[in-house]
Amino acid sequence: MERSVPRLFAPNSSPALARGTIDVATGYASFMTESTTAAPPLSRLSASVDFTADGKQIGQLQIPYSRNESAWGSLLAPIVVVQNGPGKTILLTGGSHGDEYEGPILLRKLAQQLQPEQIQGRVIILPALNFPALLSGQRLSPIDGGNMNRAFPGQRDGTITQAIAHYVQHLLLPLADIVVDLHSGGYSLEFVPSAIVHELGDRQQMDATLAALQAFGAPVGLILEELDADGMLDTAAERAGKIFLSTELAGAGSVSVAALDVGWRGLQNLLAHFGIARESPPPMTPVATRLLAVPDGDCYLIAPASGIFEPFLTLGGEVRAGQALGQLHFFEEFERPSLELCSPQTGVFWCRRAPGRVERGDCVAVVAVPATR
Ligand code: CA
Repeated sequence: MERSVPRLFAPNSSPALARGTIDVATGYASFMTESTTAAPPLSRLSASVDFTADGKQIGQLQIPYSRNESAWGSLLAPIVVVQNGPGKTILLTGGSHGDEYEGPILLRKLAQQLQPEQIQGRVIILPALNFPALLSGQRLSPIDGGNMNRAFPGQRDGTITQAIAHYVQHLLLPLADIVVDLHSGGYSLEFVPSAIVHELGDRQQMDATLAALQAFGAPVGLILEELDADGMLDTAAERAGKIFLSTELAGAGSVSVAALDVGWRGLQNLLAHFGIARESPPPMTPVATRLLAVPDGDCYLIAPASGIFEPFLTLGGEVRAGQALGQLHFFEEFERPSLELCSPQTGVFWCRRAPGRVERGDCVAVVAVPATR
């Protein structure tokens, strides 16, 4: 096994052009000039699966992670490929945020159950996108503090989080026709189980995306305007012309039975919708999807002060603009009157902050409005 390493000093040649290799078995180094060395691989990560092979492969994504405890160590994140002949490719990802458990659970179950003879085309499953974050149960990577869904398009030679994003951007996105990134609320938020899309400039891409949203069959289909779309897998996939869906499946630091059911049906429905499932089951949609929108920042209720929040309403209920969603209590200033926090819109109480303790600037609630389409 040989590893390419940069060479610091190269007699008789320009240091900038010189590269070397180290034979890992012997430790001896040999050097050559750039002109005789193969270009470095596109990514520092490598997958043990063959993306072109028919059949089912349960493998690993090797992420180099040299550290005090393990000089030549790697992280080994699961990756699964199920393929049967030509057809569409769907890329399914979960665990972008490590405290959002529904996606990883659903994708692990799908990876266990799905067989090549059940499909036409290819299913690529990456159930633990931010693998170290999922192992630690935290939103962000404990290694580099990286937020996977703010790291795209990533960096080849960046941090672990950036290098994973770079691999997905440059090696997985080009393989995919459809990308589904399963999120939920994690520790700090809870959602009405929903499938999510964004407004897209390309009419054909938007129509196909909305059709997929309806096919998913979640109780709520939401057209979301992100507060900050830079660095998201969503944005990367949409810009690459893919059909992209994400979800928000409950959350509150736990695992919701109802949200797992919505997500499982949604995945089956999508496989059928795109003709990847060979035998289309009857549509698994108990209720029609209600189309809602979060068209701008006016739907977000941000805490104006720190305190303990007492909700007045259950998530998913109808609310009017100006109606009190709850009140903030102040225990450091006990005489201070409690402060009612009112709904910014008339619509559906779609998202709430899960922990009772609220800091000034936290998102306390999001109220979704009926979609205009
Ligand atoms: Ca998330």
